[in-house]
Amino acid sequence: MIKPGLKIGILLTLILVLPSLFFSAYEISNINQNEAVIDSVYSSQLESILFSVNQYSDDVISGWANQLDKGKYGVETEIKLLVSKNYSIDAFFLIDSLKHQLFAKEKIPEDSITILKRNLENAFTNNAGNIERLQEYIKSGYQKIGVLDFNRKGKSLFAFARTVDSLSVETLLLLVDTEKFIKENLGPKIQGIAQDQFFISVIDKKLNTEIYSNVVFDEGEKNIQQRRQIWLFPAYDLGIQMKGNTIEDLVRERTNTNIIMLIVMDLILLLGAWLVYRNIRQQMKLTQLKSDFISNVSHEIRTPLALINMYSETLEMGRLPSEEKKKEYYKVINTEANRLSNMVNNILNFSKIESGKREYHFKEADINDEIETILENYGQHLHKKGFEIKFEAFDELPKLIIDKEAVSEAIINLIDNAVKYCGETRRIEIKCHTDLEFAYINVIDFGIGISKKDQPLIFDKFYRVSSGDLANKVKGSGIGLSIVKHIMDAHNGQITVQSSKEGGTCFTLSFPLR
Ligand code: ADP
Repeated sequence: MIKPGLKIGILLTLILVLPSLFFSAYEISNINQNEAVIDSVYSSQLESILFSVNQYSDDVISGWANQLDKGKYGVETEIKLLVSKNYSIDAFFLIDSLKHQLFAKEKIPEDSITILKRNLENAFTNNAGNIERLQEYIKSGYQKIGVLDFNRKGKSLFAFARTVDSLSVETLLLLVDTEKFIKENLGPKIQGIAQDQFFISVIDKKLNTEIYSNVVFDEGEKNIQQRRQIWLFPAYDLGIQMKGNTIEDLVRERTNTNIIMLIVMDLILLLGAWLVYRNIRQQMKLTQLKSDFISNVSHEIRTPLALINMYSETLEMGRLPSEEKKKEYYKVINTEANRLSNMVNNILNFSKIESGKREYHFKEADINDEIETILENYGQHLHKKGFEIKFEAFDELPKLIIDKEAVSEAIINLIDNAVKYCGETRRIEIKCHTDLEFAYINVIDFGIGISKKDQPLIFDKFYRVSSGDLANKVKGSGIGLSIVKHIMDAHNGQITVQSSKEGGTCFTLSFPLR
């Protein structure tokens, strides 16, 4: 059969500990999944920010192309307006079936203009296939901006077609200063999107240098998390990172906090379950001890009662031949009645202690006198039982403020135990001495001793040593030493024990002198 304590332990584990451990394991495995989900959401967010910057640069250039169609002044004036208003536009090159017309920034010198024109014409011829495609698009009613190969550092060349009338199509080349475009046109948009949360930078791919960033930050802080090419400026990348802690950092931090919290929660739960288990086990033990106590006390009371009964009946019947025999019977009745009364007093005192009602009355007392009185009352009886009693009184009487009844009760309890657990050697010693701080009363026997394991437990209420032949046989209630301890506590003193299975037991009562 399973022990009740073990049963409770298993139940607690099943009800409290196991579900929470399973839950923690499940949560910890989930945390990693969550981390991956958050990570991918975060990547998409960065991706969409870069997408919107890219889209914007597309919109700006398409906007310029649209303005030529929709502006109210005619295409040439609109081109001139665009060139003069936009810092980043270097030139427009209009090519139709009749002429090539260049609209360049005013400050470009004449000879450079000639070179530029030649370069643009070359680019037009070199990108013929590309341009043809753009023209096809426009004929189907869809305008697309094309990026042309143009080998001039810091410049980007775009082309788009426009319909002049239902028959003819013209092509426009747009020469843009890339860095100016990025700073002037993309810069404000990037600032707006990034706000205070992101670092967004534009990187020259070839040189791997940053040509624009919404915030200037130290090299050490740089940790670009995503890079995407700018559609219209293939030589450049957009890079993005989160300001301060990255989402990965935050997720990692959160994951760690969650795991720590779960572990702490589990530990608290385990501790709680263990405390509940311990408490229940203690209560069960106490219940067992209480029931043992009742049966022990009943046994203890039964013996003197039976003796008193038997001896008094014999006396009553007048069957005793001599006065001497009668006297002996009276003595037995008296001794047993005393034993009973001691026992009942002990129980009453214990019950007072338990209900917190025991009171002590402290007065200066002559402790040597007290011990002598005890020995006078009990000595003869003990001598008769074959005990040899040795008493070493205090040489110099210590000034002790004590409750003398209580202290006598404590000493009687100790003598009682010395008698009960004396084994073969019927000798008891009471030795008193002082040092600078304490007055000590030692009650020594040479009996069965108390094992090291039991020594700390014998002062607990109801505790009785259950191993050993004699210990099992001797009757007792298990409250004597707990009463002595209470009395000593009330005197700010101590009871200690030194004992061995071979040498017997010495209980020491120590009373503080000050
Ligand atoms: P009890 O009524 O059982 O004697 P106590 O509280 O006086 O209860 O003592 C508790 C236990 O301590 C006893 O059951 C006994 O096992 C052990 N004990 C006490 N005094 C002695 C002693 N002098 N020698 C050996 N064992 C002792």
